[in-house]
Amino acid sequence: MAAPPTQPVFRFAPSPNGHLHLGHAYSALKNFELARRSNGRFLLRIEDVDLTRARPAYETAIYEDLAWVGLQWDMPVWRQSEHFGDYELALDALRAQGCLYPCFCSRGDIARAIAGRPDWPRDPDGEPLYPRTCKQLSPAEVRQRLAAGRYASRRLDMDVALGLCGVRLGWEEYGEGNEAREVRAEPSSWGDAVLARKDVPASYTIAVVVDDARQGVTDVVRGRDLFAATSLHRLLQTLLGYPAPRYRHHALVRDEAGEKLSKSTAAEGLRALREAGVKPDEIRWRLGFR
Ligand SMILES: [Zn+2]
Repeated sequence: MAAPPTQPVFRFAPSPNGHLHLGHAYSALKNFELARRSNGRFLLRIEDVDLTRARPAYETAIYEDLAWVGLQWDMPVWRQSEHFGDYELALDALRAQGCLYPCFCSRGDIARAIAGRPDWPRDPDGEPLYPRTCKQLSPAEVRQRLAAGRYASRRLDMDVALGLCGVRLGWEEYGEGNEAREVRAEPSSWGDAVLARKDVPASYTIAVVVDDARQGVTDVVRGRDLFAATSLHRLLQTLLGYPAPRYRHHALVRDEAGEKLSKSTAAEGLRALREAGVKPDEIRWRLGFR
């Protein structure tokens, strides 16, 4: 059931492809505390859209680790793997607006297409912008390739999408504070982004936008590593007629060497800390929560 519009809705959305570390605990606690202070709801989403990487054992561990640091969340838990139909409907809506097209290129194809062009623009993640090779294919050629069993990923046609939006896109950013500033979105920095792949029928990008809308999320609180992606999320929200959440991109928790924590380094993992005898209160204190 959708929450009444006045009640803030927060969410924490981990992927079950490794154990949670202190950085996840920080983000989860931040969402939980903000929800509590605003009399809002705190939801949990399992981001298992990439079935090639998700593991049930990690999902179980997520529940255990979050409960251990003292978090409670509203039921039911939203699992992306149960919502592929929702993502497909959103992709259909984008296709109907003419802003989705099939792409048959491998990474190698793209690398060859831009070979010898060291200045070729890159997206905020450092990947080369798609050279729009498949945008040049005729409808007959596309049909022929699909009929021959060649699988296509699906890309956003950025030019068409921006033309449809017709408004200057932005979002309300709270950062670490209580004052909002208006950030201007720059979705074109992502080029013709992939929204669905062969092995993953919906990308993180389309899934997160659909999930936030379907779960009635009013406040997205997450790490700064997703700040640039918000431009693309705002574009898709606008195309799909979804409301704009407020955003709060927080600093990332770093290890003693100043490196971003990752699931592959177990040292700051919540399980390892618990097994070493660390108490939940110490975790909360270390992360700045009382
Ligand atoms: Zn292509």
